[in-house]
Amino acid sequence: MKQKVAIITGVSGQDGSYLAKFLLKKDYAVIGTVRRQQNGAIDNLKYLGIEDKVVIEDLDLLDFSNVMQIIQKYMPNEIYNLAAQSSVGLSFSQPIGTFTFNTMSVNNLLESIRIIDKKIKLYQASSSEMFGQTKSLPITVNTAMHPISPYATSKMAAHFMSMNYREAYGMFVGIGILFNHESVLRSDGFFIKKVITESIAIKHGKQKELKVGNLNIKRDFGYAPKYVEAMWKIMQMKIPDDFIICSGESILLKDIVEYIFGKLNISTNFISVDEKLIRPNEIYEIYGDNSKAKDMLKWESNVSFFDVIDNLILEEEKRFKYNNGDVVAKD
Ligand code: NDP
Repeated sequence: MKQKVAIITGVSGQDGSYLAKFLLKKDYAVIGTVRRQQNGAIDNLKYLGIEDKVVIEDLDLLDFSNVMQIIQKYMPNEIYNLAAQSSVGLSFSQPIGTFTFNTMSVNNLLESIRIIDKKIKLYQASSSEMFGQTKSLPITVNTAMHPISPYATSKMAAHFMSMNYREAYGMFVGIGILFNHESVLRSDGFFIKKVITESIAIKHGKQKELKVGNLNIKRDFGYAPKYVEAMWKIMQMKIPDDFIICSGESILLKDIVEYIFGKLNISTNFISVDEKLIRPNEIYEIYGDNSKAKDMLKWESNVSFFDVIDNLILEEEKRFKYNNGDVVAKD
C-alpha cells in the first residue's frame, strides 16, 4: 500500500509534535510546517527524538499562494491544521492578530483544498473555549456557543467556516473540539505548565512566589499525547464529523495548585493573587460530554489528571536540573 502523506501545520507546538510522533509510528510521511526555520523552531521535535524524521517546510498560512504551493508540492492525504495563536490571555492584548491569523489561515487551507483536490482531508483544531459562558453542562456538539475571548471568537468563526466547506462542497473536514490538554511540551505561560515549573523553581529557591489569577474556576483537563490520537481517529471516519474530546470531569484550579504544592512539599504561603492575571471575562466551570467520542471513535481519556500531574512534575524536575547544570540527562 502506498505510504500516506500528512501535513501538520503548527508542528512546532505541543500537539503538532506529539501528533508527528504518532503519525510516524503509523508509517506516515510527515511534513511539518513552521512560520520560519530558526533557532528553537523544532525544539519539541528534538525533545521527542524525531527531528530527522519530519520534513520541515516554512509556510506563511496567511499567504494564499504559499498555502497552494505547499499542498501542490506534497499532495497529502491528510492535513492537520494545528497552527493558531492559541493563548486566550494573549488574545486580549492581540485581538486583531489572533482573529486574523486563526480565521484566515483556515480559509486559505479550505479554499486551497477546494481548488486543488477536494479529496484531501482536513482536520480543524476547534476549542472548548468556543462555548464560553454556557450554563448547559456537560458540553456536547449541539451546545450553543457563546465565546467570551478574541481567541474563542476566532476559533468559532474557523469552526463554522470548516463546517460550511464540508456541507457546501462535500469536503472531508473533521473537527475536534478539544478541551484543555497538557504535557511537558506545553508552551510557557499556560496554567498547568506555569504552576509546575514555577513551583519547582520555588522549591529550589530560584523564585520567591507563585502569582496566580482566579483559582476558583473549574476546567476539564487531559493529557496531550492521548488527545492527538483522537485527531487521527477523527480523520479515519467514513463520514466527516465533529467530536468533543475531553475527560468528562472538571477540576478546581485551586485543588490542582494545592496538589502540586503538596507533592513538592512547599507551603501554600508562597501563592499570591495578582489582579493583572485575572481575565476581563472568565468561564466559571466547563466540562464536556465524551460519549460520542467513546461510541464512534472508540477513544477515551482514561488517565486520572492527577497521575498526569505526577508525571509532569517528574519530567519538569529533570528539565530543571538539566537546565541548571546538574548532571541529569533529559530522556
Ligand atoms: P501551541 O501554542 O503549542 O502551538 C501552536 C502552533 O501554532 C505553534 O506551532 C505555533 O508556531 C503556531 N503559530 C502560532 N501563531 C502562528 C502564526 N501567527 N503563524 C504561524 N504559526 C503560528 O498549541 P497546541 O499545540 O497546544 O494546540 C494546537 C491547536 O489546538 C491550536 O490550534 C490550539 O488553538 C488548539 N487547541 C488546543 C488546546 C490545548 O489544550 N492545547 C485545546 C483546544 C484547542 P510557533 O512555534 O512559531 O509559535
